[in-house]
Amino acid sequence: MRKLDTRTIVVASHNAGKIAEIADLIGPFGFSAKSAKDLNFVEPDETGTTFEENAAIKALASAEASGLPALSDDSGLVIDALDGAPGVYTANWAEREDGSRDFAMAMEKVERALTERGANEPSQRTCRFVSVLCLAWPDGHTEFFRGEVEGTVAWPPRGSAGFGYDPIFQPEGHERTFGEMTADEKHGWKPGDAAALSHRARAFKLFVETCMEA
Ligand code: IMP
Repeated sequence: MRKLDTRTIVVASHNAGKIAEIADLIGPFGFSAKSAKDLNFVEPDETGTTFEENAAIKALASAEASGLPALSDDSGLVIDALDGAPGVYTANWAEREDGSRDFAMAMEKVERALTERGANEPSQRTCRFVSVLCLAWPDGHTEFFRGEVEGTVAWPPRGSAGFGYDPIFQPEGHERTFGEMTADEKHGWKPGDAAALSHRARAFKLFVETCMEA
């Protein structure tokens, strides 16, 4: 496991919601971080079929372009009744023909697919959010950290916090969706805490424990 011996990194993302969450998570560690979006890096095509492959594509592209270590996140919603869909295609389900993204439409697509399969009870609507973080160095070395959080698909959507599919994700053991939680509640973690809640915070906790110099 290679340690990260700098606090200057690139956040390898063009997704404003993810960039904000990663900024929150790295904030307490004194990082100086710019995003691939701030740096106007070209967004690479996510041609992989796993979260790990897509996370590596994004992190390596930013590490090579910047000459700095780069941290990416590839994530998605995995729904059991839909045989794991939308999974690595979670962002694609929100894509309109003009290339823009519409998450209200994507959440409706999920609901329609579940209804078509007769999955109306919470026990038939189990799912998980998955986040794979990849830390890549300019020499091509990569390290991966995976976080998952179990939940159910809620309908109708509730709350307007967060981003993406947050309004329909109700984490196990909680009454509210991620869309109804503050960012701090959704992460459920700060340095020193034993546990985290969101998939991204869980992956980030692993990153901190295994890759960061004390
Ligand atoms: P990608 O990792 O850029 O391929 O996109 C993953 C997609 O999953 C995003 O566009 C979001 O819509 C969705 N997603 C990932 N993490 C979250 C989250 O924490 N909340 C809500 N949606 C998420």
